[in-house]
Amino acid sequence: MQLSFRPLLLELRHPFRLAIGSRTHTQVVLTEIKWRGLVGYGEAAMPPYYGENHETAAAFLNRAAVPLAQYATFSELNDDAIAEIMAQIDGLAPGNHAAKAAVDIALHDLWGKMAEQPLWQLWDLPLENMPLSSFTLGIDTPAVLRDKMRESADFQIIKIKLGSENDREIIQTIRQITDRPIYADANQGWKNKEQALELAHWLAEQNVLLIEQPFAKDDLDSSAWLSERSPLPILADESFQRLPDLDRVLDSFHGVNIKLMKCTGLSEARRIARNVREKGKPYMVGCMTETSCGILAAALLCPESRFADIDGCWLIRNNPFEMPELKWGRIQLGNRAGLGLLPNVGEV
Ligand code: MG
Repeated sequence: MQLSFRPLLLELRHPFRLAIGSRTHTQVVLTEIKWRGLVGYGEAAMPPYYGENHETAAAFLNRAAVPLAQYATFSELNDDAIAEIMAQIDGLAPGNHAAKAAVDIALHDLWGKMAEQPLWQLWDLPLENMPLSSFTLGIDTPAVLRDKMRESADFQIIKIKLGSENDREIIQTIRQITDRPIYADANQGWKNKEQALELAHWLAEQNVLLIEQPFAKDDLDSSAWLSERSPLPILADESFQRLPDLDRVLDSFHGVNIKLMKCTGLSEARRIARNVREKGKPYMVGCMTETSCGILAAALLCPESRFADIDGCWLIRNNPFEMPELKWGRIQLGNRAGLGLLPNVGEV
């Protein structure tokens, strides 16, 4: 198998403002794994706060290409074969979670193409259970929020970035525009437990359905305190990355946000998801700002999840693939093999 890759700078439709900063672009690397005329597509999406970028991904993927080339005679991929390859890729270097995900996603797409089946079919996923996906609005002025709401008309749930001084004002502004349910993401922005609890009660009255990452990622004690008392589920995002962190994090939160770019791809994400379900806890499937490649891969985790926030490719201008189909706020997984991606011929 032959791995190739190229860097791409995703342009965001709006500057993305979070409690921890603002940005206009996201660095991604698109991968291709070729085998006997078939091509599997993968992606690494790298927001700056996880420490990966074009250079680190290129360095890692150049190393990953070597063991992948040794699988030249591999006649068939499946879950076990991909898990075995990914164990080897994971062992090449610590970190590099998004770059590893770019290999994992491409292997899965390639497997579907070898089998001439969509991945959801290979996994026998209950597509009828696909949850509504939320659409994320960054912190902004009321006028800009109104514009963004128009762009999100197909989505039935809104995700709001909180964690600034004027959280109530932001929710009130949204409530002047729509009564759609809200997922609130504080992105580590809250500092005070008692104020957070008071806010959680107020948010519950505003038809907010959950709270993501209230406190600093290492402050598990405050999250545990709030989780014990909150009327809303509290989910870990920045506090949770990979499977070995899961038990520790679930002691302090009701559930977790699983993202392919944090946990090295579908192989590990599916193990995490199974583990969380077995514990009877909820999880959200999340994403970064990504192309349709990362989003369609993440969508494969959704039919078995309670919450989905996989809007990343609706937040960018230069998607190199065709947009996924969205019906009544639910991403549709079609009948094309693998992830079901089609290159967008008009794009770079
Ligand atoms: Mg989050």
